[in-house]
Amino acid sequence: MYDCIIVGAGVAGAVCARKLAEEKRKKVLVIERRDHIGGNCYDEPDEFGVLIHNYGPHIFHTGMEEVFAFFSRFTEWYLFGHEVVAKVNDSLIPVPFNLNTLHMVYEKEKADRLEKKLIETYGEGSRVPIMKLRESEDNDIREIARYVYENVFLRYTMKQWGQKPEEISPEVTGRVPVIISRDNRYFADKYQGVPKNGFTPMFARMLDHENITVCLHTDCKDLLTMEEGEELRILYKGEPYHGDVIYTGALDELFDCRYGRLPYRSLDFQFEHYDKDSYQGHSVVNYTVSEEFTRITEFKFLTGQKDAQGTTIVKEYPFSYTGAAGEIPYYAILDKENEALYQKYKALVSGNHKFHLLGRLAEYKYYNIDIMAKKALELAEQI
Ligand SMILES: Cc1cc2nc3c(=O)[nH]c(=O)nc-3n(C[C@H](O)[C@H](O)[C@H](O)COP(=O)(O)OP(=O)(O)OC[C@H]3O[C@@H](n4cnc5c(N)ncnc54)[C@H](O)[C@@H]3O)c2cc1C
Repeated sequence: MYDCIIVGAGVAGAVCARKLAEEKRKKVLVIERRDHIGGNCYDEPDEFGVLIHNYGPHIFHTGMEEVFAFFSRFTEWYLFGHEVVAKVNDSLIPVPFNLNTLHMVYEKEKADRLEKKLIETYGEGSRVPIMKLRESEDNDIREIARYVYENVFLRYTMKQWGQKPEEISPEVTGRVPVIISRDNRYFADKYQGVPKNGFTPMFARMLDHENITVCLHTDCKDLLTMEEGEELRILYKGEPYHGDVIYTGALDELFDCRYGRLPYRSLDFQFEHYDKDSYQGHSVVNYTVSEEFTRITEFKFLTGQKDAQGTTIVKEYPFSYTGAAGEIPYYAILDKENEALYQKYKALVSGNHKFHLLGRLAEYKYYNIDIMAKKALELAEQI
């Protein structure tokens, strides 16, 4: 019999499984409905031998030493300072908008003046959310805000969320900063990069432990039954189960969406292969004023792969998740109404203290890999 059952072999499930198996000596069953481990971090070579990220480009970045140390037990790294450019008309400009971008957009005298003003107002090195700049009383700063808003933020955000920016929660808007520095890196974290041989081998090593059994191609509902009553009871293969269950799947799905679906944005990934060395010369180009897709990733420039023939890119087309077969819920749409709906589902499991919700789906939140891992380590510690 297993001490713990974990639903999902993504970051949340795999990190938790390893810690419970190794440090707590628990016998762990990991149930995963896909035919692979790694969740959305999964990567594999495509038919041309180019290592691709099947569920969108993933760059590991963290400032948390313990998280970096944990993952480093299972992989070496290809570390770099991740940079993103935006295609605005015929130019490629660094994003988030920073002082280098400022000097590409305005002529020298004006850019020098604006730079001075930004540093004086917000301090060198600061990250200022675009909405904050828009609220400034200073004409010059508002002009920068307008440029960034119209050329970097507006159309991209509308495509990404299918909404007007005013309708988007401050949590999301806050993630689009203007950076008052010459640093072109997209993230400020100390460690940035990808596992040297890919995410999948890293997950395989993490899950390779005598106390862990991984069951692929299996929906948890094939093995687990939720019996509702005064408190939620879990049955494993029809028998009462008294161990801990860590659920990292979508909470509404667990209850057949009885109160309606939790809304998500999804993505349609269009992969294209070209028989040439380079397609765009950058890992990620955001399309902020044109096109229906939001960005193009060229994998070679992300993974540092040298031995592939040609190059593979992916274009991302956002759309509203409907729950139809094959669609994947990617980004929770965080607003009060959706949070209330989530809480209704959460109430259905809150009576059972051995049933834990963990992960971007089960908690209806956006988490980066490092925060997700940190939360998984904490939960395993608590168990
Ligand atoms: C497009 C995109 C790009 C991203 N890029 C980055 C990035 O660059 N850097 C970064 O730090 N983070 C990034 N993230 C976030 C990152 O993907 C998440 O932090 C991470 O995937 C969270 O892991 P998880 O285990 O919660 O979820 P998931 O990876 O989704 O894993 C959940 C697993 O549970 C399984 N499952 C669900 N329901 C069931 C069921 N009923 N039965 C069995 N199994 C089930 C699923 O198949 C899945 O494998 C990105 C996210 C997206 C959407």
